[in-house]
Amino acid sequence: MAASGKLGAFRLPPLPTIREIIKLFRLRAMKQLSQNFLLDLRLTDKIVRKAGSLTGAYVYEVGPGPGGITRSILNADVAQLLVVEKDTRFIPGLQMLSDAAPGKLRIVHGDVLTYKVEKAFPESLRRHWQDDPPNVHIIGNLPFSVSTPLIIKWLEHVSCRDGPFVYGRTPMTLTFQKEVAERLTATTGSKQRSRLSIMAQYLCDVEHVFTIPGRAFVPKPEVDVGVVRFIPLVQPKIEQPFQLVEKVVQHVFQFRRKYCHRGLGMLFPEAQRLESTGRLLCLADVDPTLRPRQLSIAHFRSLCEVYRRMCDSDPQLFAYSFREELKQNKQKRRREGDDSESGVP
Ligand code: SAM
Repeated sequence: MAASGKLGAFRLPPLPTIREIIKLFRLRAMKQLSQNFLLDLRLTDKIVRKAGSLTGAYVYEVGPGPGGITRSILNADVAQLLVVEKDTRFIPGLQMLSDAAPGKLRIVHGDVLTYKVEKAFPESLRRHWQDDPPNVHIIGNLPFSVSTPLIIKWLEHVSCRDGPFVYGRTPMTLTFQKEVAERLTATTGSKQRSRLSIMAQYLCDVEHVFTIPGRAFVPKPEVDVGVVRFIPLVQPKIEQPFQLVEKVVQHVFQFRRKYCHRGLGMLFPEAQRLESTGRLLCLADVDPTLRPRQLSIAHFRSLCEVYRRMCDSDPQLFAYSFREELKQNKQKRRREGDDSESGVP
Protein backbone atom coordinates (compact mmCIF):
# COMPACT_ATOMS: atom_id res chain seq x y z
CA MET A 1 0.00 0.00 0.00
CA ALA A 2 1.69 3.24 -1.12
CA ALA A 3 -0.67 5.46 0.82
CA SER A 4 -4.16 5.26 2.24
CA GLY A 5 -7.10 6.48 0.15
CA LYS A 6 -7.66 9.04 2.91
CA LEU A 7 -4.53 10.95 1.91
CA GLY A 8 -5.25 13.89 -0.38
CA ALA A 9 -5.42 14.66 -4.07
CA PHE A 10 -1.86 15.94 -4.65
CA ARG A 11 0.62 13.12 -5.34
CA LEU A 12 4.36 13.47 -5.65
CA PRO A 13 5.64 12.30 -9.06
CA PRO A 14 7.78 9.10 -9.11
CA LEU A 15 11.02 9.81 -7.23
CA PRO A 16 14.08 7.82 -6.19
CA THR A 17 13.32 5.86 -2.99
CA ILE A 18 14.57 7.19 0.37
CA ARG A 19 17.17 4.42 0.32
CA GLU A 20 18.37 5.63 -3.10
CA ILE A 21 18.41 9.27 -1.87
CA ILE A 22 20.57 8.19 1.07
CA LYS A 23 22.99 6.49 -1.33
CA LEU A 24 22.89 9.29 -3.91
CA PHE A 25 23.74 12.03 -1.42
CA ARG A 26 25.91 9.80 0.83
CA LEU A 27 23.71 10.47 3.86
CA ARG A 28 25.32 8.03 6.27
CA ALA A 29 23.51 8.32 9.61
CA MET A 30 25.72 9.96 12.24
CA LYS A 31 25.57 7.91 15.40
CA GLN A 32 26.69 10.82 17.59
CA LEU A 33 23.67 12.77 16.30
CA SER A 34 21.30 9.81 16.97
CA GLN A 35 20.15 9.79 13.37
CA ASN A 36 17.80 6.86 12.72
CA PHE A 37 15.85 7.02 9.50
CA LEU A 38 12.41 5.71 8.57
CA LEU A 39 12.53 4.29 5.07
CA ASP A 40 9.19 2.48 5.01
CA LEU A 41 6.62 4.82 3.47
CA ARG A 42 3.76 2.75 4.94
CA LEU A 43 5.00 3.72 8.39
CA THR A 44 5.58 7.37 7.52
CA ASP A 45 2.07 7.47 5.98
CA LYS A 46 0.72 5.99 9.23
CA ILE A 47 2.40 8.70 11.35
CA VAL A 48 0.92 11.36 9.07
CA ARG A 49 -2.58 9.81 9.12
CA LYS A 50 -2.45 9.84 12.94
CA ALA A 51 -1.87 13.60 12.80
CA GLY A 52 -5.45 13.92 11.44
CA SER A 53 -6.68 15.49 8.19
CA LEU A 54 -3.98 17.70 6.68
CA THR A 55 -5.95 18.91 3.67
CA GLY A 56 -5.09 22.58 3.14
CA ALA A 57 -2.94 22.54 6.31
CA TYR A 58 0.24 24.41 7.17
CA VAL A 59 2.63 21.86 8.59
CA TYR A 60 5.89 22.33 10.47
CA GLU A 61 8.09 19.24 10.27
CA VAL A 62 11.02 19.14 12.68
CA GLY A 63 14.14 17.20 11.62
CA PRO A 64 13.10 15.86 8.17
CA GLY A 65 16.47 14.15 7.47
CA PRO A 66 16.27 12.22 4.18
CA GLY A 67 12.58 13.09 3.87
CA GLY A 68 10.46 9.95 4.48
CA ILE A 69 7.84 11.68 6.66
CA THR A 70 8.21 14.77 4.44
CA ARG A 71 6.97 12.77 1.43
CA SER A 72 3.98 11.44 3.32
CA ILE A 73 3.07 14.96 4.47
CA LEU A 74 3.31 16.31 0.91
CA ASN A 75 1.06 13.49 -0.29
CA ALA A 76 -1.57 14.51 2.29
CA ASP A 77 -2.54 17.53 0.18
CA VAL A 78 -1.17 20.20 2.52
CA ALA A 79 -1.14 23.89 1.58
CA GLN A 80 2.41 24.36 2.81
CA LEU A 81 5.10 22.32 4.51
CA LEU A 82 7.94 24.01 6.35
CA VAL A 83 10.85 21.79 7.34
CA VAL A 84 13.68 22.76 9.69
CA GLU A 85 16.79 20.59 9.46
CA LYS A 86 20.08 21.14 11.28
CA ASP A 87 22.34 18.92 9.18
CA THR A 88 23.23 20.55 5.82
CA ARG A 89 23.88 17.18 4.16
CA PHE A 90 20.10 16.65 3.91
CA ILE A 91 19.31 19.91 2.15
CA PRO A 92 19.97 18.75 -1.51
CA GLY A 93 17.71 15.68 -1.06
CA LEU A 94 14.98 17.90 0.41
CA GLN A 95 15.48 20.34 -2.48
CA MET A 96 14.68 17.48 -4.86
CA LEU A 97 11.36 17.01 -3.01
CA SER A 98 10.71 20.73 -3.18
CA ASP A 99 11.17 20.65 -6.99
CA ALA A 100 8.69 17.77 -7.17
CA ALA A 101 6.05 19.72 -5.17
CA PRO A 102 6.32 23.24 -6.57
CA GLY A 103 5.41 25.99 -4.09
CA LYS A 104 4.60 23.57 -1.27
CA LEU A 105 7.87 22.85 0.54
CA ARG A 106 9.94 25.48 2.36
CA ILE A 107 13.31 24.31 3.60
CA VAL A 108 15.08 26.02 6.48
CA HIS A 109 18.58 25.06 7.56
CA GLY A 110 18.29 25.70 11.29
CA ASP A 111 17.80 24.41 14.81
CA VAL A 112 14.29 23.53 16.01
CA LEU A 113 15.28 24.51 19.55
CA THR A 114 15.64 28.15 18.50
CA TYR A 115 13.59 28.45 15.29
CA LYS A 116 10.62 30.84 15.64
CA VAL A 117 7.72 29.17 13.85
CA GLU A 118 5.33 31.84 15.16
CA LYS A 119 6.57 34.10 12.39
CA ALA A 120 6.50 31.47 9.64
CA PHE A 121 2.83 31.07 8.73
CA PRO A 122 0.17 33.62 7.71
CA GLU A 123 -1.54 35.46 10.57
CA SER A 124 -4.90 34.61 8.98
CA LEU A 125 -4.47 31.04 10.30
CA ARG A 126 -4.77 32.18 13.93
CA ARG A 127 -7.74 30.87 15.89
CA HIS A 128 -9.07 31.80 19.32
CA TRP A 129 -7.87 29.40 22.00
CA GLN A 130 -11.44 28.26 22.71
CA ASP A 131 -12.05 27.45 19.03
CA ASP A 132 -11.22 24.19 17.26
CA PRO A 133 -7.47 23.75 16.67
CA PRO A 134 -6.07 25.77 13.73
CA ASN A 135 -5.12 24.10 10.45
CA VAL A 136 -1.49 24.19 11.60
CA HIS A 137 0.27 20.99 12.66
CA ILE A 138 3.64 20.01 14.06
CA ILE A 139 5.02 16.61 13.06
CA GLY A 140 8.45 15.11 13.60
CA ASN A 141 10.79 12.27 14.32
CA LEU A 142 13.72 13.88 16.12
CA PRO A 143 16.64 12.38 18.06
CA PHE A 144 15.45 11.50 21.59
CA SER A 145 18.01 13.90 23.06
CA VAL A 146 16.18 16.74 21.29
CA SER A 147 12.53 15.62 21.48
CA THR A 148 12.32 15.60 25.31
CA PRO A 149 13.76 19.12 25.95
CA LEU A 150 11.74 20.35 22.98
CA ILE A 151 8.43 19.05 24.34
CA ILE A 152 9.13 20.63 27.76
CA LYS A 153 9.85 23.92 26.00
CA TRP A 154 6.70 23.61 23.88
CA LEU A 155 4.56 22.72 26.91
CA GLU A 156 5.69 25.99 28.46
CA HIS A 157 4.68 27.72 25.20
CA VAL A 158 1.27 26.00 25.44
CA SER A 159 0.83 27.42 28.95
CA CYS A 160 1.69 30.94 27.69
CA ARG A 161 -0.11 30.49 24.34
CA ASP A 162 2.94 31.74 22.47
CA GLY A 163 5.60 30.18 20.15
CA PRO A 164 3.88 27.60 17.88
CA PHE A 165 0.66 28.20 19.86
CA VAL A 166 0.11 31.77 18.70
CA TYR A 167 -2.01 30.07 16.01
CA GLY A 168 -4.23 28.51 18.70
CA ARG A 169 -4.24 24.93 19.99
CA THR A 170 -1.75 23.60 17.40
CA PRO A 171 -1.69 19.77 17.53
CA MET A 172 1.66 17.98 17.65
CA THR A 173 2.50 14.44 16.51
CA LEU A 174 5.99 13.52 17.67
CA THR A 175 8.13 10.47 18.29
CA PHE A 176 9.86 9.57 21.56
CA GLN A 177 11.72 6.63 22.96
CA LYS A 178 8.87 4.20 23.82
CA GLU A 179 9.53 4.50 27.58
CA VAL A 180 9.24 8.30 27.36
CA ALA A 181 5.99 7.96 25.36
CA GLU A 182 4.69 5.72 28.17
CA ARG A 183 5.68 8.28 30.79
CA LEU A 184 3.99 11.10 28.86
CA THR A 185 0.71 9.19 28.81
CA ALA A 186 0.92 7.30 32.15
CA THR A 187 -2.25 7.37 34.25
CA THR A 188 -2.49 7.86 38.04
CA GLY A 189 -1.00 4.90 39.90
CA SER A 190 0.90 3.39 36.99
CA LYS A 191 4.57 2.50 37.25
CA GLN A 192 5.54 4.94 34.50
CA ARG A 193 3.83 7.91 36.17
CA SER A 194 6.41 10.71 36.36
CA ARG A 195 7.11 14.44 36.11
CA LEU A 196 6.51 14.30 32.34
CA SER A 197 3.05 12.70 32.80
CA ILE A 198 1.81 15.61 34.91
CA MET A 199 3.46 18.38 32.90
CA ALA A 200 2.03 17.05 29.61
CA GLN A 201 -1.41 16.01 30.85
CA TYR A 202 -2.31 19.15 32.75
CA LEU A 203 -1.93 21.14 29.53
CA CYS A 204 -2.77 18.71 26.73
CA ASP A 205 -4.81 15.77 25.67
CA VAL A 206 -2.00 13.23 25.22
CA GLU A 207 -2.29 9.95 23.35
CA HIS A 208 0.32 7.28 22.63
CA VAL A 209 -1.05 6.48 19.20
CA PHE A 210 1.20 3.58 18.22
CA THR A 211 4.61 2.04 18.69
CA ILE A 212 7.17 1.59 15.92
CA PRO A 213 9.59 -1.30 16.51
CA GLY A 214 13.24 -0.25 16.55
CA ARG A 215 13.92 -2.62 13.62
CA ALA A 216 11.88 -0.31 11.32
CA PHE A 217 14.66 2.31 11.54
CA VAL A 218 17.99 2.46 9.74
CA PRO A 219 20.29 2.11 11.59
CA LYS A 220 18.28 0.24 14.20
CA PRO A 221 18.21 2.06 17.58
CA GLU A 222 18.47 0.09 20.85
CA VAL A 223 14.86 0.94 21.71
CA ASP A 224 11.35 1.00 20.24
CA VAL A 225 9.72 4.30 19.37
CA GLY A 226 6.36 5.70 20.52
CA VAL A 227 4.34 8.12 18.40
CA VAL A 228 2.56 10.60 20.67
CA ARG A 229 -0.16 13.07 19.73
CA PHE A 230 -0.73 16.20 21.83
CA ILE A 231 -3.70 18.58 21.54
CA PRO A 232 -3.58 21.57 23.92
CA LEU A 233 -6.62 21.71 26.22
CA VAL A 234 -9.00 24.67 26.08
CA GLN A 235 -8.83 24.83 29.88
CA PRO A 236 -5.55 23.69 31.50
CA LYS A 237 -6.21 21.32 34.39
CA ILE A 238 -3.97 23.45 36.63
CA GLU A 239 -4.31 27.19 36.30
CA GLN A 240 -1.02 28.36 37.76
CA PRO A 241 2.23 29.62 36.18
CA PHE A 242 4.22 26.89 34.41
CA GLN A 243 7.32 27.42 36.62
CA LEU A 244 5.27 27.01 39.78
CA VAL A 245 3.67 23.77 38.55
CA GLU A 246 7.07 22.55 37.40
CA LYS A 247 8.60 23.26 40.81
CA VAL A 248 5.89 21.43 42.76
CA VAL A 249 5.88 18.45 40.36
CA GLN A 250 9.66 18.19 40.32
CA HIS A 251 9.82 18.28 44.14
CA VAL A 252 7.18 15.57 44.48
CA PHE A 253 8.92 13.21 42.05
CA GLN A 254 12.44 13.66 43.36
CA PHE A 255 11.83 10.90 45.89
CA ARG A 256 9.64 8.73 43.70
CA ARG A 257 9.53 5.75 46.06
CA LYS A 258 8.91 7.70 49.28
CA TYR A 259 5.68 9.19 50.60
CA CYS A 260 4.81 12.44 48.80
CA HIS A 261 5.31 14.60 51.94
CA ARG A 262 9.04 13.86 51.70
CA GLY A 263 9.58 15.65 48.38
CA LEU A 264 7.03 18.37 49.11
CA GLY A 265 8.83 19.20 52.36
CA MET A 266 11.82 20.33 50.33
CA LEU A 267 9.77 23.27 49.06
CA PHE A 268 10.26 24.86 52.50
CA PRO A 269 13.28 26.08 54.51
CA GLU A 270 14.44 23.56 57.10
CA ALA A 271 13.33 25.69 60.06
CA GLN A 272 9.67 25.71 58.97
CA ARG A 273 9.64 22.44 56.95
CA LEU A 274 7.53 20.26 59.22
CA GLU A 275 4.90 22.84 59.97
CA SER A 276 4.59 24.23 56.40
CA THR A 277 4.46 20.77 54.76
CA GLY A 278 1.70 19.75 57.16
CA ARG A 279 -0.24 22.91 56.37
CA LEU A 280 0.22 22.49 52.60
CA LEU A 281 -1.02 18.89 52.66
CA CYS A 282 -3.88 19.64 55.02
CA LEU A 283 -5.17 22.65 53.06
CA ALA A 284 -4.77 20.79 49.76
CA ASP A 285 -6.55 17.79 51.28
CA VAL A 286 -3.83 15.36 50.14
CA ASP A 287 -2.92 12.25 52.15
CA PRO A 288 0.79 12.67 53.05
CA THR A 289 1.35 8.92 52.74
CA LEU A 290 0.43 8.72 49.06
CA ARG A 291 3.39 7.87 46.82
CA PRO A 292 4.19 10.37 44.01
CA ARG A 293 2.73 8.10 41.32
CA GLN A 294 -0.57 7.83 43.21
CA LEU A 295 -1.22 11.58 42.96
CA SER A 296 -3.83 12.59 40.39
CA ILE A 297 -3.77 15.83 38.39
CA ALA A 298 -6.54 17.07 40.75
CA HIS A 299 -4.17 16.46 43.71
CA PHE A 300 -1.47 18.45 41.94
CA ARG A 301 -3.97 21.20 41.18
CA SER A 302 -4.82 21.66 44.88
CA LEU A 303 -1.15 21.39 45.92
CA CYS A 304 -0.21 24.09 43.38
CA GLU A 305 -3.09 26.34 44.47
CA VAL A 306 -2.19 26.13 48.16
CA TYR A 307 1.55 26.50 47.46
CA ARG A 308 0.71 29.58 45.33
CA ARG A 309 -1.19 31.14 48.25
CA MET A 310 1.74 30.38 50.57
CA CYS A 311 4.13 32.03 48.08
CA ASP A 312 1.84 35.06 47.83
CA SER A 313 1.96 35.56 51.58
CA ASP A 314 5.72 34.89 51.85
CA PRO A 315 7.51 36.57 48.90
CA GLN A 316 10.82 34.76 49.69
CA LEU A 317 9.29 31.29 49.46
CA PHE A 318 9.18 30.69 45.69
CA ALA A 319 12.90 31.51 45.32
CA TYR A 320 13.80 29.07 48.14
CA SER A 321 15.95 26.14 47.02
CA PHE A 322 16.81 23.35 49.46
CA ARG A 323 19.90 22.51 47.42
CA GLU A 324 21.09 26.09 47.87
CA GLU A 325 20.37 25.85 51.62
CA LEU A 326 22.35 22.59 51.84
CA LYS A 327 25.27 24.19 49.99
CA GLN A 328 25.25 27.22 52.27
CA ASN A 329 25.07 25.06 55.42
CA LYS A 330 28.02 23.03 54.19
CA GLN A 331 30.06 26.16 53.48
CA LYS A 332 29.13 27.53 56.91
CA ARG A 333 30.25 24.32 58.64
CA ARG A 334 33.50 24.38 56.66
CA ARG A 335 34.12 28.00 57.63
CA GLU A 336 33.36 27.26 61.29
CA GLY A 337 35.79 24.31 61.12
CA ASP A 338 38.49 26.57 59.64
CA ASP A 339 37.85 29.18 62.33
CA SER A 340 38.16 26.71 65.20
CA GLU A 341 41.42 25.31 63.73
CA SER A 342 42.82 28.85 63.47
CA GLY A 343 41.97 29.42 67.14
CA VAL A 344 39.20 31.97 66.50
CA PRO A 345 36.76 31.52 69.39
N1 SAM B 1 12.65 12.52 10.23
C1 SAM B 1 13.63 11.68 9.58
C2 SAM B 1 13.12 10.25 9.55
O1 SAM B 1 12.16 9.95 10.25
O2 SAM B 1 13.72 9.42 8.82
C3 SAM B 1 14.99 11.76 10.27
C4 SAM B 1 14.99 11.29 11.69
S1 SAM B 1 16.50 11.45 12.54
C5 SAM B 1 16.12 10.53 14.02
C6 SAM B 1 16.43 13.08 13.21
C7 SAM B 1 16.68 14.22 12.25
O3 SAM B 1 16.59 15.44 12.99
C8 SAM B 1 18.05 14.23 11.58
O4 SAM B 1 17.92 14.57 10.24
C9 SAM B 1 18.83 15.32 12.34
O5 SAM B 1 19.84 15.92 11.57
C10 SAM B 1 17.70 16.29 12.66
N2 SAM B 1 17.97 17.13 13.84
C11 SAM B 1 18.55 16.76 15.00
N3 SAM B 1 18.59 17.77 15.87
C12 SAM B 1 18.00 18.82 15.25
C13 SAM B 1 17.73 20.16 15.64
N4 SAM B 1 18.07 20.62 16.86
N5 SAM B 1 17.12 20.97 14.75
C14 SAM B 1 16.76 20.52 13.52
N6 SAM B 1 17.00 19.25 13.10
C15 SAM B 1 17.60 18.41 13.95
